[in-house]
Amino acid sequence: MKKLIIAGQGPAGISAALYAVRGGADVTVIAKDGGALAKADLIQNYYGFARGVPAAQLIEQGVEQAKNLGVNVVRDEIAGIEFGEDGYTVKTIGGQYEAGAVIIACGVSRNVPPIRDIQTWEGRGVSYCAICDGFFFRGKKVAVIGSGKYALSEYNVLKGIIEDVTICTNGETPAFDTAGIRTDTRKIEAFEGGDALSALLFADGSRESYDGAFIACGSAGAFELSKKLGLETAGNKIAVNEKRETNIPGIYAAGDCTPGLQQIAKAVCDGMVAGTEALKYLKANS
Ligand SMILES: Cc1cc2nc3c(=O)[nH]c(=O)nc-3n(C[C@H](O)[C@H](O)[C@H](O)COP(=O)(O)OP(=O)(O)OC[C@H]3O[C@@H](n4cnc5c(N)ncnc54)[C@H](O)[C@@H]3O)c2cc1C
Repeated sequence: MKKLIIAGQGPAGISAALYAVRGGADVTVIAKDGGALAKADLIQNYYGFARGVPAAQLIEQGVEQAKNLGVNVVRDEIAGIEFGEDGYTVKTIGGQYEAGAVIIACGVSRNVPPIRDIQTWEGRGVSYCAICDGFFFRGKKVAVIGSGKYALSEYNVLKGIIEDVTICTNGETPAFDTAGIRTDTRKIEAFEGGDALSALLFADGSRESYDGAFIACGSAGAFELSKKLGLETAGNKIAVNEKRETNIPGIYAAGDCTPGLQQIAKAVCDGMVAGTEALKYLKANS
């Protein structure tokens, strides 16, 4: 059977992993941190804990439970999911993984920088996906907005297509080696242009011409990953049916990144369904 990659080690990702691995799948969970649950304290509304349970304990026990059943849990940051030769390729900062099916359980964060009216520029020069939209900017001048390793990863994608690429860190200190990389650390105030973007206006009053800006702040969240794959979204969530299938066969989504309550019980239920359905898909398509 081909592999199942699960993006995220929160309640949704781990629950999916438990069901899939017990059904015989080869499962790898990739996660960069503890997600939303790591920000919580005592959980009092999850089944089975008479005096509540510390969120940290719930995370630790879930990951241990998955590992004990044979799930490979990897600490890495996912930068993109692409169509591969035999399924999907999950690209991370540290490498890449081939999968027959992928479950996106990345939680709810969407890293939109606080630049004035940014939403109105989406599709008019502002993009969240270098691999999808870089092609349209060949021969033009573009900025990658971000300061972390994800920004560097989007920069590298664009540099394969476009000559004139600058990483604009929007006032942040770059978290990567800037040697050989055009970097601008000025804080960005606004986008300027008419039908399409033509310049970035900086907080110090200066402006610079740009034809495109690729947002890559923090790390790629479910929203950015879904844009790269062409997944249907509902607001800032990934649209799924009752089987937690997205509009692309073999790609599932579960937990806070899908519509509905943002609660542990709902994430665990989503994970159960997605893990079970992904397993069926892998058995039918391997
Ligand atoms: C302060 C706080 C208190 C809360 N209290 C409660 C409560 O009392 N009861 C309750 O039911 N719910 C509570 N919640 C909500 C609950 O934590 C979430 O509903 C639940 O964690 C969602 O699970 P999830 O698996 O969908 O996402 P998350 O738990 O957010 O997990 C997302 C996973 O995706 C990973 N990830 C994201 N992007 C990437 C990437 N690019 N590469 C690799 N990995 C990535 C993260 O590292 C993480 O492992 C609380 C949330 C917060 C913030």
